Amino acid sequence: MSSYNILPSLSSPTGNLPASVSQSQARGILNADLHCHSIVSDGTMTPEALAERAKAEGVELWALTDHDEIGGQHRAMAAAKANGMRYLTGTEISVTFAGETVHIVGLGFDPDDAALTLGLKQTRGGRSQRAMEMAEGLAKVGIQGAFEGALKFVSNPELISRTHFARFLVESGVCKETHEVFRKYLTEGKPGYVPHRWASLRDAVHWITEAKGMAVIAHPARYKFTANEEYALFSEFKAHGGLGVEVVTGSHSALEYVRYAATAQEFGLAASRGSDFHCPVESHTNLGGLPFLPGALTPVWELLADRIQ
Ligand code: AMP
Ligand code: MN
Ligand code: MN
Ligand code: MN
Repeated sequence: MSSYNILPSLSSPTGNLPASVSQSQARGILNADLHCHSIVSDGTMTPEALAERAKAEGVELWALTDHDEIGGQHRAMAAAKANGMRYLTGTEISVTFAGETVHIVGLGFDPDDAALTLGLKQTRGGRSQRAMEMAEGLAKVGIQGAFEGALKFVSNPELISRTHFARFLVESGVCKETHEVFRKYLTEGKPGYVPHRWASLRDAVHWITEAKGMAVIAHPARYKFTANEEYALFSEFKAHGGLGVEVVTGSHSALEYVRYAATAQEFGLAASRGSDFHCPVESHTNLGGLPFLPGALTPVWELLADRIQ
């Protein structure tokens, strides 16, 4: 099947489906939202409030995927159950690959796995030091008190992230919105940017897989890779045992859905769908608010059927 045949199934979950939805297209038709963040990392809502919001937005299968943290998993699982929603355990691991930060989502793992818990704890380890260096960089351009300011927005002391700095710079009137903060202060070459060495791709994929979960490349269109580097990412990821890629995400355009649907097929990876929702006012994609997965792909939830709670 050519990648163009997937276009008819890119309809909205609430919109009308084409009359001729084929069997293969129907496979992707589930309002699964397998990527979002709570106060356990850099989201602004509790796992419980997210579960209620997801349910209200029509999500049928949900995963909370906090950055480098699984501390919210039991709460999210219970909240999904209380709302009559199916659930997959989740996390989003920060990885350094070819000099870039890449995110690897883990789904359907044992939330009490000791090696995964330890690996994530190590991955979180350098964040406080990095945050102090970020604040020093910002102080040099006249923005004082950014470390303490960002901390006011942090709920998990081990998880201070650029997002918390962005919220502080908006609150203090330096920028109008968080995207502007990232553009002007928090990305490579800007005063508050501090390079950081995260987990290796191999370790992240192994932690997830050995905890009986599935590793998924998050929002591949976001990385600034050459074609060769991207090829290396996908092939090394597969060689380590990775099985999925996000195709429909809040970070992709419609054209990128098509592009990464083709990549999923090329590499024989299952496809995932997730909003990457963080906050009602900052996130441009709501929970459950994305188009369905293109039909010709194997949805990650088919391979994780026995891991769904
Ligand atoms: P960190 O893990 O501290 O490097 O922070 C990464 C987080 O920053 C991501 O997970 C996003 O939530 C957020 N982020 C990255 N780039 C942007 C951007 N351009 N606009 C808004 N948020 C961003
Ligand atoms: Mn984030
Ligand atoms: Mn991410
Ligand atoms: Mn995310």
